[in-house]
Amino acid sequence: MCPDDADGGVLSPTTEPAADAATRAPARGADAAVPVRDGLFSAEAPPRLLGGRCGSCASHHFPRADTCPYCSSQDVAPVALSAEGELWAWTAVTAAPPGYRGEVPYGFGVVELPEGLRVVARLTEADPGRLHAGQAMRLVVVPLHADEAGQTVTTFAFAPAPAGAAGGDGT
Ligand SMILES: [Zn+2]
Repeated sequence: MCPDDADGGVLSPTTEPAADAATRAPARGADAAVPVRDGLFSAEAPPRLLGGRCGSCASHHFPRADTCPYCSSQDVAPVALSAEGELWAWTAVTAAPPGYRGEVPYGFGVVELPEGLRVVARLTEADPGRLHAGQAMRLVVVPLHADEAGQTVTTFAFAPAPAGAAGGDGT
């Protein structure tokens, strides 16, 4: 595990050493894909966010941590979180944040999962006008940029779920 100052697992622009000059390898092939950070999500279809569930207070958290962020218990079990949730807040990012090498604009927002936690994530929809509160969203894995080795760096994002496809559990 890298104690890598996880700022919420947002769009963590990979903090790789500035290996610009020496290793500029040509593209190695489009199917070489690496996650922006290990341990955030599983990429096999359907993708899932990797979180934790506290055995003491029953809260879920993401990204996964060894200690519950709510009650400090270390009785935390790894869980794969729901791949579907509801849009809670959103915006569009139109200027690249420092270190960000992907495309702009992109959507950015908060999705509430059935487990009761809100995940800050990239959104595939970059037009805020096409999103609305409570909208059904589904987890996807998307390309972010190509790294120095030509590998596609991927990250998780939420995409508007096709109408009717995700609305299964009307609690
Ligand atoms: Zn707890």
